[in-house]
Amino acid sequence: MGEFELIRRYFLPLAGRQKPRSLILGPGDDCAIQRIPSGRDLVFSVDTLVEGVHFPRNYRPDHLGWRALAVAASDLAAMGADPECFTLALTLPVVDELWLEGFACGLKSASDAFGLELAGGDTTSGPLTLSLQVHGTVEQGSGIRRSGARPGDLIAVSGTLGNAGAALDYLPDPNPSADMLAVLEHYHRPWPRLDLARAVRQYANAAIDISDGLLADLGHILAASEVGGRVESARLPLSPALTRLKGDMAVDYALRSGDDYELCLCFSPENWERAPESLKSQLTVIGFVEAEPGLYLDGVDCRLEAVPAGFDHFRRHS
Ligand code: ADP
Ligand code: MG
Repeated sequence: MGEFELIRRYFLPLAGRQKPRSLILGPGDDCAIQRIPSGRDLVFSVDTLVEGVHFPRNYRPDHLGWRALAVAASDLAAMGADPECFTLALTLPVVDELWLEGFACGLKSASDAFGLELAGGDTTSGPLTLSLQVHGTVEQGSGIRRSGARPGDLIAVSGTLGNAGAALDYLPDPNPSADMLAVLEHYHRPWPRLDLARAVRQYANAAIDISDGLLADLGHILAASEVGGRVESARLPLSPALTRLKGDMAVDYALRSGDDYELCLCFSPENWERAPESLKSQLTVIGFVEAEPGLYLDGVDCRLEAVPAGFDHFRRHS
């Protein structure tokens, strides 16, 4: 099968299936065309996933299709953006039709679930690598940045943390228990918090999605905002499955492991007070922002501990 037949068979069917929003020309031409409504800002980001680095070798293709778009869409959630469309640059070692079918199926489910329409892409041969560029929009000036946290803000997170990190321990397990399956689901099928993020956009001062672990990603907010923060580990939201699987270590997974794609948000106390209960019930307050730089965990300065600064591709062997 040639490049064009491959695109026609597996990727063009994903396009043009959703109600047209800002995407006015999809795949098939030299470029896609997106029309940004006046009064809105374009919010975009690109993410690359390399086999053996971002996902295991021989990873299930339908899981990969879902995960790739979920990871990319999570950055839109972190800005509070409305998802619009995405492009896919796919590098494949061989044309394996069964693999492509599974991959396109997972990608399609995610595209429907997140409301992100395929706008185009590029298909090449080489080691298995995916780059997805996602486009969203926000009302002019309303994207939530990392740099908006202020002393006195509450720090909150969505969902439960540490599940996907723990799941890495069980990926090779041929016979996973119900608890292992529960945490594996978080790894295979992360749900970027797009709806929650759009709903809290008007209340939050700063946001980030937790891709590298809470301490690392909250650290990015604090650094960008030139503030410090305190977190109480007893407040961290943990799933029952993680607690049963990891016991006392569960907190460590919640603090340091990534791949959850939950949100970490900062709110002024007044805005937190004003926010509707239906939003607050999806969040857990874990600490607060203070003027003095540094990240204190249960009163201990994390900067002085050997806290991994999140995943750094060029430092992982040091
Ligand atoms: P060009 O040579 O002009 O860059 P290509 O041959 O790379 O065009 O692609 C032809 C069309 O197919 C383009 O509209 C492109 O967006 C689309 N396309 C290529 N690969 C993919 C893919 N993996 N997913 C979706 N659309 C794709
Ligand atoms: Mg091209």
